[in-house]
Amino acid sequence: DRAEDHGRARAEIDLDALRDNVRTLRAYAPRAELMAVVKADGYGHGAVPCARAARQAGATWLGTATPQEAIALRKAGDRGRLMCWLWTPGGPWREAIERDIDVSASGTWALEEIVTAARAAGRPARVHLKADTGLGRNGCQPADWPQLVAAARAAEAEGALKVTGVWSHFACADEPGHPANAAQLAAFREAVAVAERAGLDPEVRHHANSPATLTLPESHFDLVRPGVSVYGLSPSPEVGTADSLGLRPVMTLSASLALVKRVPGGHGVSYGHGYTTPGETTLGLVPVGYADGLPRHASGAAPVLVAGKWRTIAGRVAMDQFVVDLGGDTAAAGDRVVLFGPGEAGEPTAEDWARAAGTISYEIVTRISARVPRVYT
Ligand code: PLP
Repeated sequence: DRAEDHGRARAEIDLDALRDNVRTLRAYAPRAELMAVVKADGYGHGAVPCARAARQAGATWLGTATPQEAIALRKAGDRGRLMCWLWTPGGPWREAIERDIDVSASGTWALEEIVTAARAAGRPARVHLKADTGLGRNGCQPADWPQLVAAARAAEAEGALKVTGVWSHFACADEPGHPANAAQLAAFREAVAVAERAGLDPEVRHHANSPATLTLPESHFDLVRPGVSVYGLSPSPEVGTADSLGLRPVMTLSASLALVKRVPGGHGVSYGHGYTTPGETTLGLVPVGYADGLPRHASGAAPVLVAGKWRTIAGRVAMDQFVVDLGGDTAAAGDRVVLFGPGEAGEPTAEDWARAAGTISYEIVTRISARVPRVYT
């Protein structure tokens, strides 16, 4: 039972903070609607409670990557506008259409499968056409765009679908002022113009992720799609800190010390003896490891808060546990260890962990595994 694991580790999810973040983001983009991105189980925070809280704070849309994620939200009772964007062959497109979930197409092959699913469902699909305006990942290349638009227009005329959106995604919005940002916006305006000239009349045009929502008002169009900032994290140091952006980190990951013991100097610690005690000292065992989603790259590097002091992970992060050197401090099994949180009580943040592990805060929170119970406050 997950609840019984609270003494070991827990991820507290502050839904008030999430609601505040959604309101703050709406103020950054006052003329646009807001789609809260809740893919990957709400960036590790729990998709259903986060989706509900985001709706309460005025998110008129929710976004997921996969149709399965969107269907799970419908099954949990969500009734609002909901889009999933990662088209893959053989996906549950019929069920998505039946459940009034907007889908995305980056090419005619995807459109054809969507049209077939819509016919089977007996109702038109709601489709967002995705342009590649420069990301070089998903999306339709400009050379193929007129063909995709024409195919969508023909299917629309037949009643098989309605083009509800034209959209794209940034490559470098986390670097404000990067020349690719302006180039992508110009390409997007052109893609929209081509679609409109062909007779499409999308309800929403959208391009902005968190960094663009926060720093690039001309990218807001009809709808912004922030993800990481909904969870109170800055998309990059170049964009700002959570605090400077007015965001409140939503997740606090904490654990209880499982063992405290004195060891002599010169004692190797954890696999490979990556740390050796510099003198007689107290070691504390934190019962959380890479199976809980901690990056093994945080070994010997990431900070945690124990009794008001930052301690660095001593040696390697193992599958279920790691060690901290508590020096001369007195501590006991059961004492609280905060791995990361908003930073308000002096604890490290997910951004501190990201820096220590050579990654981004997105990955730190998203990877916290199902073994860690989420506790909603
Ligand atoms: N839109 C799309 C298509 C995405 O894939 C993502 C996430 O990667 C987002 C929006 C949200 O991005 P961010 O978390 O940077 O706000």
